[in-house]
Amino acid sequence: MSAKVIDGTKVAARVRDEIAVAVAEMKEKYNYTPGLATVLVGEDPASATYVRSKQRMCERLGIRSVGHKLPADASQEEVVALVARLNADPEVNGILVQLPMPKHINEEAVLNTIDLEKDVDGFHPVNIGRLAMKGRDPLFIPCTPAGCMELLADAGVPTKGAEAVIVGRSNIVGLPMAMLLQKADATVTICHSRTKDLTEHLERADIVVAAIGWAEMIKGDMLKPGCAVIDVGINRVDDASNERGYKLVGDVEYDSAAEVAGAITPVPGGVGPMTIAMLMKNTLRAAEIALAKR
Ligand code: NDP
Repeated sequence: MSAKVIDGTKVAARVRDEIAVAVAEMKEKYNYTPGLATVLVGEDPASATYVRSKQRMCERLGIRSVGHKLPADASQEEVVALVARLNADPEVNGILVQLPMPKHINEEAVLNTIDLEKDVDGFHPVNIGRLAMKGRDPLFIPCTPAGCMELLADAGVPTKGAEAVIVGRSNIVGLPMAMLLQKADATVTICHSRTKDLTEHLERADIVVAAIGWAEMIKGDMLKPGCAVIDVGINRVDDASNERGYKLVGDVEYDSAAEVAGAITPVPGGVGPMTIAMLMKNTLRAAEIALAKR
């Protein structure tokens, strides 16, 4: 079997097009422009790159973005005060605090400060709590898991009654992904570093979501034939043939998995492009919420 490739680049482009149309309509009808505020604490180059790409995407889609930078030695009080100012700013619909923050900052306390209606990353405990509860809906869903769900839907992968195995239980990917899939009526198993026999679980999975951070850990012979594989992992491995000296691979060994699976996301070009697209979607939603209250 050779798996159908789930093309995240294409799906993300479709989602972005839909957002751009909705943003233009909002301007035209209501003279209202969605706004995203980014908060970057410290000088971590990877975080700075992520924030820049989010700001560039805002520009492309007609969303206003305002960047706020604090030095690496900024105090907890300074970060919280900035978030509180952004909460009160009517021009700001979404607040994105780039993680990780420097060690001395209490991440949970900062995320708790974000106004629920501006929590476009979906990490506020109330939003996560609603995601976990039956019959409740969060205002915002964390962007990477939301992107994975969009990819499954686009590929026509049924979730109702499906056996889903999530490998990884982080707050930003594995855990919310598991909650989303159980809301979508899948039977969900969460695996992690203490799971005794990962293969035993993977072998019966119709849907596999890998969010581990371990290059090519899951091989084709661990999978059930015909399953759908969503590979969230982004890992650098040495590659002398590449001019950068490395290449990016997922948590799943693509070639062997593609022989067995029915559908699979590549890395790069799978989940990666979806994350920013879903952030833009959440920002549009935050603007819709604010607009409805005017
Ligand atoms: P974390 O390090 O926070 O979590 C990794 C998870 O993998 C943990 O739950 C850990 O278990 C589990 N794990 C580690 N080793 C094993 C093992 N041998 N068997 C089974 N499970 C194991 O990572 P993130 O969730 O933040 O990210 C995961 C990957 O996804 C990374 O490669 C990251 O770069 C990528 N990523 C990609 C995004 C995108 O936009 N495409 C966005 C976010 C992340 P335990 O809890 O027991 O420690």
